[in-house]
Amino acid sequence: MQRRKAIQGFNFDKYPFFERDIDPKQRAWIEVNGEAIEKNVRQLRSKLSKSCQFMAVVKADGYGHDAKVVSEYAIKGGASELGVATLKEGIKLRSSGVNNPILVLGNLYTKKDLIIAFKNDLMPTISSLRECLICNNIGKQFGLKYSLHLKVDTGMSRLGFESDKFIQEFEKIKSFENISIEGIYSHLSSADEDNSLDPKSSTQLQRLKFKELLKQINVDSDHNIKIHLANSAGMLLNKDFHFHMVRVGLSMYGYSPLEKIEKNLCLKPALCLKVKVAFIRVIDQGVRVSYGGKFVSSRKTKLAVLSIGYADGVPRNLSGKIKVIFKNKLYPQVGSITMDQMMVDITGSDEIKVGSTVVLLGSEGDKTISPIDWARESNTIPWEILCSFKNRLPRVQVD
Ligand SMILES: *Cc1c(COP(=O)(O)O)cnc(C)c1O
Repeated sequence: MQRRKAIQGFNFDKYPFFERDIDPKQRAWIEVNGEAIEKNVRQLRSKLSKSCQFMAVVKADGYGHDAKVVSEYAIKGGASELGVATLKEGIKLRSSGVNNPILVLGNLYTKKDLIIAFKNDLMPTISSLRECLICNNIGKQFGLKYSLHLKVDTGMSRLGFESDKFIQEFEKIKSFENISIEGIYSHLSSADEDNSLDPKSSTQLQRLKFKELLKQINVDSDHNIKIHLANSAGMLLNKDFHFHMVRVGLSMYGYSPLEKIEKNLCLKPALCLKVKVAFIRVIDQGVRVSYGGKFVSSRKTKLAVLSIGYADGVPRNLSGKIKVIFKNKLYPQVGSITMDQMMVDITGSDEIKVGSTVVLLGSEGDKTISPIDWARESNTIPWEILCSFKNRLPRVQVD
């Protein structure tokens, strides 16, 4: 194919240009601090009894942090298992060399997918007898036992066996010769709510339902089956939720899902969102800024144009509601956030120049802006903020 030559006579073949030549910090990027993850895991694990295992939940590319990096440091910090949402996420981790047990938290329901999971040493979450039979057949086909986790619904109404049916069906499942039940679990729907320690709360009722069910199927004596219930919020409530393993996402990344957080817990956010100033301009009083002209300058105003927008995953409904940090000072974002850029009022600063780096999320000096702050302003939850960041933002590992 003939390449269009913009510059007549220039030998493009002699100077090939590759994407990798671009500095990851050329525009906007996410810095991921692996050691923060490691420390968070170590600290969270110190709240568990010695025998209780820690599953690091690294779905959605490690909540936007890069699942490979997160897994590596979580394992260093003492995580023994990993949780992903999809088949592809699991295979990606396996091909990056992760050898720990991996549980697929989403549902795999076709024979084809369950074979792929088996061949990649991924454990599926099983919510029905039908899926269990497929796994048993696959195990038989290979002359092996297919390792899996059974899930029961205790109040989330998402995946999982119906709890009443489970008690009968478990009898049948136990007789399957080509599966190995590695775990039985359930998922909490509301552990991050304020009333979760109240005995009548839905969280406590879920826990009791789960316990009752386990009692009825009498698995306590079977030490090969791992029982697990807690997400981050559940694990932080108290030990009653820990069982044999906890499945932790958000708090491992450095954010507590609970408002009232234990005083002797100090989580460190692992992510920092940074962007370069691409342009600076000064506008007069009464000048409209950005699409729709929703911001009008009330005085002569110095604006910095930042190379990041909603196509990078900054919610557009944060327009005019966020600040950025530069050298321990906060500057307000003004006007509508656009697809690829946004403006910041830097009036009075002589230090910010074209090419300066400002912080959108993370800490600098004694200032911190958290995804929890953005979530509040954007009327969502920090989980959604974290996994909204697009691949256009390079992930850069720092320590
Ligand atoms: C995402 C997920 C978790 C982790 O939840 P956090 O609140 O982020 O700790 C645990 N268990 C299941 C089944 C999940 O889907």
